[in-house]
Amino acid sequence: MSSGDSHLRDERRAQLAALLDASGTVLRLAAPLVDLLVRLSLAKAFFAPGMLPSSHLFAQTGWPTIIVQVAGPVLLAAGLWVRPVALLMLVLTLLAQTSGPPQDEHPFWAALFGWYVAQGAGPLSLDHLLAKGLGFSPLPLAGRAMAAADWLDRWVGPLYRLAVRLWLAAALAGDALAPSMLPATASAMLPATASAMLPRPWALLAAALLGVGLGTPLVAAGLLVAGTSMAMAGTDHAMTVYAPLLLALLGVSGAGRYSLDSLIAARMHRPAPPADDAPHIVIVGAGFGGMACAAGLRRERARVTLVDRYNYHLFQPLLYQVATAALSPGDIAIPVRGVFRDHPRLRVLCGQVSGMDIANRCITVDGRRLPYDMLVLATGASHGYFGHAEWAAAAPGLKSLNDATSIRSRILAAFEQAEATDDPVVRDTLLTFLICGAGPTGVELAGAIAELARHGMEKDFRNFDPASARILLVQAGPRVLPQFAERLSAFARASLEALGVEVRVNSRVEMIDAKGVVVNGERIAAATVLWAAGVVASPAAAWLGQEPDNAGRIKVGPDLSVPGLPNVFAIGDTALALAWDGQPAPGLAPAAKQAGAYVASVLRARLRGSNPPQPFRYRHQGSLATIGRKSAVADFGRVKLTGALAWWLWGAVHILFLARRRNQFAVILGWVWSYFTFDVGVRLITGDGPSRAGAALAGEQPE
Ligand SMILES: Cc1cc2nc3c(=O)[nH]c(=O)nc-3n(C[C@H](O)[C@H](O)[C@H](O)COP(=O)(O)OP(=O)(O)OC[C@H]3O[C@@H](n4cnc5c(N)ncnc54)[C@H](O)[C@@H]3O)c2cc1C
Repeated sequence: MSSGDSHLRDERRAQLAALLDASGTVLRLAAPLVDLLVRLSLAKAFFAPGMLPSSHLFAQTGWPTIIVQVAGPVLLAAGLWVRPVALLMLVLTLLAQTSGPPQDEHPFWAALFGWYVAQGAGPLSLDHLLAKGLGFSPLPLAGRAMAAADWLDRWVGPLYRLAVRLWLAAALAGDALAPSMLPATASAMLPATASAMLPRPWALLAAALLGVGLGTPLVAAGLLVAGTSMAMAGTDHAMTVYAPLLLALLGVSGAGRYSLDSLIAARMHRPAPPADDAPHIVIVGAGFGGMACAAGLRRERARVTLVDRYNYHLFQPLLYQVATAALSPGDIAIPVRGVFRDHPRLRVLCGQVSGMDIANRCITVDGRRLPYDMLVLATGASHGYFGHAEWAAAAPGLKSLNDATSIRSRILAAFEQAEATDDPVVRDTLLTFLICGAGPTGVELAGAIAELARHGMEKDFRNFDPASARILLVQAGPRVLPQFAERLSAFARASLEALGVEVRVNSRVEMIDAKGVVVNGERIAAATVLWAAGVVASPAAAWLGQEPDNAGRIKVGPDLSVPGLPNVFAIGDTALALAWDGQPAPGLAPAAKQAGAYVASVLRARLRGSNPPQPFRYRHQGSLATIGRKSAVADFGRVKLTGALAWWLWGAVHILFLARRRNQFAVILGWVWSYFTFDVGVRLITGDGPSRAGAALAGEQPE
């Protein structure tokens, strides 16, 4: 087979795999909710008076039945001990169905309880939350219980899904072909599928597809829609309400191991081993740009190495919340290795790149040479002090997790030391927080510090009122958030002032030292000064020997390659790409992601020998900035939002873009908790944060 054919096959396979991935993601997101809905519905049905499986059971079995019927639903709803509880409920249901008059819903109850015995509860359950901890706990029998659960998951779960599919298929086919020929015992245990809701050929097709497990989510969705439409139309063929629940559970969980769906997915995702001479693509930087590029190449017939100095990908837009004690570092960072664990062609390397040898196509990682065939530089940016590097020690910027935890320590230490001192001048200095730069980061920092001071610690100190803290936001230009429309800038300024932030526009920072700042000739004594005024690109331009622009960025061509180096690309904050209708693409996460995905498409085309894509064009999706816990501004061009609505949108977007479910839950939980309780959770002073504020105490009085 020619290499062109194999590339074409790879391409088709990659497209199908991408489609499967996309639909898989939707199903994975829906699955926990469906699982919760099913458990709540079963719990309600079992708990509701008059819905007991059978009152004559009570006469036969006595109090155990009542205990299961009262405690079982509560545990099922909470997702605690779901497997044993479901087993008891399954037994009661089967007893009720066989010893009393058969009921349409009982087979479905039994199937659903059986599902929970075989599969356990989903992520929105206490069982799931406690599973890992329990497995390693010294509690008696905990280890054995977890091993039994694993065994059920591995062996019984897939068989059970097969059984459910065959059971539904048999009911559909039997009903469609010869309903009257079914023996009485079979009709008691087979579900009333109301196959008459579908024309006979469709019912048979659905039965066949369910039987072999092909397109199961689609088949389940089709049956669910047909069944519920019948119910809404009020026809005689409507299914019991538990049938759609079972179909939904099957649809979102998939057909299981013994199905054609599973075979196809395994084939689509099976990576062909990269040949030793396969091109080596090195991506430096696991930020937004580098991650998007790596994700776009993870199935290519190439060796891909993703290098970063840290072992995690950082969600920088929420760094300010770590710096102001609202979130923990782990809430906004995900280990890169875990993201690509299922992609054996992609290697993750943790190391610092310090330079490169262009002639020999090598980069230097922690002193070792790493050869490349194609190189993508996505090393981002850091703080820029407009030629005043000496300000850095006195006015740290916010770019990394270390920056955030050290700023958090400075802010909290200032409050601690204000409590310790009896000198009012020193205390005023300690309680003055000055932020240089009123872009989104400066505005967000100022709003969050103001809220921390006004609401987060109001009863915590005895010698002073934290609400007396002075927060200044200093901006050289005429308005805050200059990249937003004027109306939104004005709104943001008013919101900041309502929080007690002193906003100073047209104010140039002239000097920063350990005692404070000189602004427009006026010295302001401040123990905590934060820098949010400028960024400068990583030194990648110097590595390449390229002339950078005035922000240190590498100027790249329309395909984001470096001029004169067609195998080297630069993306994100470290590159200057005139891709926004001829203007530079902005230093925003979506711009870096789009550029990363684009370079992946250029490299894919090269690897497959197909036509290169059109030049890169940045598509702006809007800008958002938040001011405290109630207000935000959102600029989508024609649509502009302010206030609470914009805040909710800001929150939803940030949750959505957090890459991992665990981080999403952690952030939502942290926000909800502090939103309603004003309790700021992560008030930890770590490292050497107190030292600067301590200088003020050590007699270094402000002038
Ligand atoms: C505090 C803050 C708030 C922000 N808020 C928003 C916002 O609300 N919305 C928005 O769209 N954008 C926001 N941004 C901007 C956005 O985060 C950046 O535009 C985006 O991260 C750029 O992506 P990137 O891939 O170019 O670089 P980055 O995401 O910065 O990634 C660069 C990566 O390269 C690695 N690296 C750097 N040098 C080396 C080296 N020598 N060796 C090995 N690895 C290296 C770094 O460790 C890092 O992982 C914010 C930025 C900050 C700092």
